[in-house]
Amino acid sequence: MDDIKGLVFLVVNGSFVDGHGIRTTVFLKGCPLQCIWCCNPEGQAFHPELKLTSAKCDGCGKCVAKCRTGAIQIYSGQEDAKVQVDRQLCTNCGECIAACYTGALDCFGKYYTVEELFNVVKKDEQFYRSSGGGVTIGGGEATWQPEFTLQFIKKCKENYIHTALDTCGYVTVPEGIKALEEADLLLFDLKGMDVEQHVKSTGVSNEPILENLKKVDALGKPIIIRLPVIPGYTDSATSLKHTAEFLSRLTSVERVDVMPVHEYGKIKYEQLGKAYKLKVQPIPEQRQEEIVTLLESYGLIAQIGG
Ligand code: SF4
Ligand code: SF4
Repeated sequence: MDDIKGLVFLVVNGSFVDGHGIRTTVFLKGCPLQCIWCCNPEGQAFHPELKLTSAKCDGCGKCVAKCRTGAIQIYSGQEDAKVQVDRQLCTNCGECIAACYTGALDCFGKYYTVEELFNVVKKDEQFYRSSGGGVTIGGGEATWQPEFTLQFIKKCKENYIHTALDTCGYVTVPEGIKALEEADLLLFDLKGMDVEQHVKSTGVSNEPILENLKKVDALGKPIIIRLPVIPGYTDSATSLKHTAEFLSRLTSVERVDVMPVHEYGKIKYEQLGKAYKLKVQPIPEQRQEEIVTLLESYGLIAQIGG
């Protein structure tokens, strides 16, 4: 177990979302989906990635000499000099980061052994116990680092720490399925029932996702469903009705969280040098309430956010 390393891009302590009570959420890198509305684009690639925060760059140029591929160049911005990174040339080696004293250059992704990550989350153990909280493993899609995720969940459970696994449900290997089975609580994302629309929105079919949801539902452990509501992608009346019908046939769904679209992840696209393609307006509160009411009309417990 000591040899297994997981690639983590974020650890959030003291979280009141992503499960019950006070939690620490660890976000693992790498995801088989490419959702157009993804708010964690730094969780998509399976390798560490250079993060550039232009606002922090003072144009000193120290990083330029460190780059062996010539990926970094200084250019004159609107007010002062800044760097830009050619992502075709950048190998994400990270050698430029140490030269940057302003913190403009950093890395998305750090490797941990199970023991190292456990020692990070263990620090808040007393808060988990007093609040009925625990550790949530999210991403990216944690089950695509299957052995690490499974061993990490087991380690938490051996130490009586509650575990929640936040999953997109696109889990294709046995160890990943075991991780779903091992977690105490599943936060299961559902992004629509129409196969063609799902492929257009996420890059993959929803068929394995729905099959996995039926399988884990049969285990009888609690599941919180998360429905991202993205205008033009997941919010059609037909899609929501079919989703509600499907969920009403399951037996382990504790609650459905309606997750309205937001743009919190936009800055991270800039930091990765990626284009932000989503163009939607916020969803009016009345529409959010209507979706909750629809789900409730199918006997489901639903709320906005989660
Ligand atoms: S991460 Fe490596 S390749 Fe990319 S800009 Fe920095 S030094 Fe160059
Ligand atoms: S070392 Fe940092 S602050 Fe200096 S030019 Fe490079 S990115 Fe900007």
